[in-house]
Amino acid sequence: MLLHPKNEKYEHLDEASRQIMLKTIDFFENKGKEKLKADYRNMVWYEDFLDFVKENRIFYTLLTPSAYGEGDPDVRWDTARICDMNEILGFYGLPYWYAWQVSILGLGPIWMGNNEAAKKKAAKLLKEGAIFAFGLSERTHGADLYSSDMSLTPLGERKYVADGGKYYIGNGNEAAMVSTFAKNSETDEYVFFAVDSRHPNYECIKNVVAWQGYVAEYALHSYPISDEDILSSGPEAWDSALNTVNVGKFNLGWGSIGICTHAFYEAVTHAAHRNLYGKFVTDFPHIRQLFTDAYTRLLAMKLFSSRAVDYMRCASAEDRRYLLYNPLVKMKVTTQGEEVINLLWDVIAARGFEKDMYFEMAAKEIRALPKLEGTVHVNMALVVKFMANYLFNPGEFPEIPKRDDAANDDFLFRQGPTKGLGKIQFHDFNIAYNSLDTPNIRIFKEQIAVLKELLLTAPPSKEQTKDIDFLLSMGELFTLIAYGQLMIEKCNMENTDKDLTDQIFDFMIRDFSKFALQIYSKPGTSAQQMEFCMKMIRRPEVNPARFNHVWEKYVYPLKDSYEMNA
Ligand SMILES: Cc1cc2nc3c(=O)[nH]c(=O)nc-3n(C[C@H](O)[C@H](O)[C@H](O)COP(=O)(O)OP(=O)(O)OC[C@H]3O[C@@H](n4cnc5c(N)ncnc54)[C@H](O)[C@@H]3O)c2cc1C
Repeated sequence: MLLHPKNEKYEHLDEASRQIMLKTIDFFENKGKEKLKADYRNMVWYEDFLDFVKENRIFYTLLTPSAYGEGDPDVRWDTARICDMNEILGFYGLPYWYAWQVSILGLGPIWMGNNEAAKKKAAKLLKEGAIFAFGLSERTHGADLYSSDMSLTPLGERKYVADGGKYYIGNGNEAAMVSTFAKNSETDEYVFFAVDSRHPNYECIKNVVAWQGYVAEYALHSYPISDEDILSSGPEAWDSALNTVNVGKFNLGWGSIGICTHAFYEAVTHAAHRNLYGKFVTDFPHIRQLFTDAYTRLLAMKLFSSRAVDYMRCASAEDRRYLLYNPLVKMKVTTQGEEVINLLWDVIAARGFEKDMYFEMAAKEIRALPKLEGTVHVNMALVVKFMANYLFNPGEFPEIPKRDDAANDDFLFRQGPTKGLGKIQFHDFNIAYNSLDTPNIRIFKEQIAVLKELLLTAPPSKEQTKDIDFLLSMGELFTLIAYGQLMIEKCNMENTDKDLTDQIFDFMIRDFSKFALQIYSKPGTSAQQMEFCMKMIRRPEVNPARFNHVWEKYVYPLKDSYEMNA
């Protein structure tokens, strides 16, 4: 169920896509762990990887919508295989993933705009092996995009000059097209235009991080722009900023899954061979608990994200459910990734610091993912907008199948206005929860019922709805319900061992209880709400046989099963 690069055959993909995945794995396995780590430590720019990408037209094949692929059936924007690539790149190192990820972001406003010439230019550059960048963030404005200072000044005759600075911009050192977000200095309208990082009026000031990837500060000094460089203006420019982030943030969860998977192999192999006081570390009951928790959390990350791919690929103007599942892949999956690494690090302790371990890199990189493309808070603030309709006003939708077919995901580039989130409906989550019966799913359903009762009989007061701190904790409970729902849908599709699913719901119940306790402890929580919170705190079913089965059948056998080439 977890990626094993040396055994994975990618049988769900067509031949050309399968070859891309296998060749990418070979590239890293041939590079070897020693060189991978040395390049990481020495912050060596990954020319070798970019040459490999160019030679095999990897970004071109995977990141060009089919309309711009000159009729080549292998060229398409296909979220399923994009996620496969995310997982591989996360597995071998976040810096490589980052070069790919910010290229995806940079391409977003290009493919979403209506500048045909820019699209053709991007496709040509992709074919030639170029990388791309997304210039949205500025040094002083953080999440506040309304305050962007980069300006585009009209000169007449469809000519302009751009002036200003951008900060935290990946690939800003080499990108052939840097999609830059700005305001028209005369009309105050938003605008996206593309600049070339090699142009003399483009100053790449520095890499703002001490890292193998390049996260640039750049400045434009009277950079000449013409209509040919404008990607979108006005509300379309604003929407394409947010819609690009919608597409891009999905990748963060998959990067996290890749990181945790590699770290897991290393950790369990180390612990299984370490003998203390005449016992192997994996014989300690607390170590088994830590590993089983890490494994089930990692599996849940993958089950949820795989199912979210299906909704992403089936999205349409009428079915915008992806707008909930997508921030969860970004925010919930990546924070679960941090939890997995924490658990594994408690087991392998000192070994996790060693410079020849992948783990040492994973422990640092896993922290980045929840913070990129909107923080956890920003995404949670988005997610709570869906809560009322999700819980109390379900809609009817056709069943969404597994989507690993070779289709181009057209809708992602015409998502339309970003408004109206509170009106989006979802299918009834009870359908999933009633489709699978295990003791822990039963307890979890009881927790959900108490939350609904709280919301109906002691709903958040006016003050509480304005208190982001309170809402964020409510959002955590809500998130768990949607997380569990898609997980169950995926377990049904894959016929997952019921014991394993039940073990996943063991941590789901504990997490639900933890967040209920947080709400209980908030200064503004009413006595009635506190009572409901106490009812939400539940104990998972104790079942040593189930736990041992999961340990013996799924977790422990991962020892010695994968080791990256030296
Ligand atoms: C390594 C790296 C690479 C990056 N690459 C790129 C890139 O290629 N292109 C690009 O454009 N940007 C890039 N970024 C920027 C990144 O997307 C932002 O840093 C990120 O969105 C968080 O913004 P901030 O750190 O400025 O936090 P701030 O916006 O300053 O937030 C401060 C605090 O306020 C909270 N907060 C802010 N707004 C809200 C809200 N509405 N609701 C609730 N809480 C809120 C935040 O959660 C946070 O706790 C990169 C950043 C890093 C570190």
